[in-house]
Amino acid sequence: MWQSILDHFNTLEQRPVERLAIIVGGLLILWMIEGAIPLMPLRYRKSKVRHASVNLAFTVIHLIIHTGFGVLIVLLSDWTKTEKWGIVHWLHLSLVGTIIVSALVLDFFGGWFSHITEHKIPLFWRMHIIHHSDTNVDVTTGLRHHPLESVWRGLFFLMGILVSGSPIYAVMIYQTILTVFVAFTHANISLPLWLDKSLSFLMVSPNMHKVHHHWKQPFTDSNYGAVFSIWDRMFGTFRTMKKEDIRYGLDRYYPEERDEDFGYLMKKPFLSLLEKNDLAQPEVQGGKTGVKTQKSLLGNSGPEANSTAATG
Ligand SMILES: [Zn+2]
Repeated sequence: MWQSILDHFNTLEQRPVERLAIIVGGLLILWMIEGAIPLMPLRYRKSKVRHASVNLAFTVIHLIIHTGFGVLIVLLSDWTKTEKWGIVHWLHLSLVGTIIVSALVLDFFGGWFSHITEHKIPLFWRMHIIHHSDTNVDVTTGLRHHPLESVWRGLFFLMGILVSGSPIYAVMIYQTILTVFVAFTHANISLPLWLDKSLSFLMVSPNMHKVHHHWKQPFTDSNYGAVFSIWDRMFGTFRTMKKEDIRYGLDRYYPEERDEDFGYLMKKPFLSLLEKNDLAQPEVQGGKTGVKTQKSLLGNSGPEANSTAATG
C-alpha cells in the first residue's frame, strides 16, 4: 500500500489536472462551508463573486508561475538524490522520517521564513501588501499573491529542498497538505474555540491566521506560519486575539476602498510605499480596535501602531 501511495505522489507533478482538481475542489468545498458556518459576516464591496474574481485572477497567475517552478523543483530534488545531499540523506532517515523532516524543513523555508522576510524587508513588503490589503478574508484570499511574490516564495521553496534533500514524493505530500491548509486557514469558517486552540499548538488554525490579517500592528507581524505553528511559537511571533476584535486589511500602505482593483494591485509594488491616500478611511467595521479618524491614525504611537515603515 505504501508503495502505491508513494508512486502516486512521485508522479503527481506530472499530472497538473489532478493537482488543479485538488485546489479547485478544496476551494469549492470551503466556499460552501463558509456559507454554512461563517466566522464573521463579511461586507463584500459588490458581491462575493466579484471579490472572488479578483482573487482568483491572482490565483491563476500564481499557479502558472508555480508550474514553472515545478520543473526546477523536480530537477533539484533529483539532484539531491543522486548527490545524496540534504538532511534526509545525511541522517539516512526512514520513509516516515523523510516525509516528516521534509514537511518541517519545506514549511520552515517556504512558509514561515519566506513570509517573515516579506514583512521585514521593504522591497518584498511592497509585493506582499497585495495579500494583506484584502478587507474580506475568505477562502479565495489564500493565493492572492502578486506575481513577484510568487517568484520570491518559489525561491525559498527551492532553498528548502536544497537543505532537506526531499525526494519528490515528500515534496508533493507537503504541497498537497499546504494547499489544503492555505484554503482552510483563510476560509471564513468558525471552528469551536477549544478545537481551534488545541489545533494551534502544532498546526496553523483558522483563527490563528486571521490574527495575521488584522489591520494593525503588532498583529500583522505575527503568526507567519503556513502549516505548522511551531515556528511562530519557537521564534516568539505567536499571537492570539479575540475573533470579534479582528478587522481585516491594512491601516496604511493601501487604500482599503481599492482592495478589489486588480490593475492598481498589480502596480502597487512599483509605487511609493506610503502614499497619502494609502491611509485607511475612518470607517468602523464593528471591530473594537477600529481607529476613528485619519488624524489619530497618523499620530498613532500606541502598542498597536505600525512599528517600522517596512512592516504592516
Ligand atoms: Zn503576511
